[in-house]
Amino acid sequence: MKAAIHPKYFDSTITCACGAVYKVGSSLEKIDIELCSACHPFFTGKQKILDTARRVEKFTAKDSKKTGTIKTAKDKAAERAARATAKAAKKANSDTSIKSVSR
Ligand SMILES: [Zn+2]
Repeated sequence: MKAAIHPKYFDSTITCACGAVYKVGSSLEKIDIELCSACHPFFTGKQKILDTARRVEKFTAKDSKKTGTIKTAKDKAAERAARATAKAAKKANSDTSIKSVSR
């Protein structure tokens, strides 16, 4: 071994955020990690969702509200037709208003 070129070798400890501690050999004395094989979903088989913006909660609430009112193609077509007639009526109204202004 060449002198003064090798880093110091420690019997270091790896500490996980879940509390697990591992003893390894490393050039770092102490290592802090967020995930390890004791707490990672791949190894535990449990799903863990970090939902900071409540996105999942909001979606499930919205989804549960929707259930029971599943739209069929017929419903959608009827909705579209209703929207078209409403739009046509609105357009007719706006046309009259323009005429009244131009007078
Ligand atoms: Zn862990």
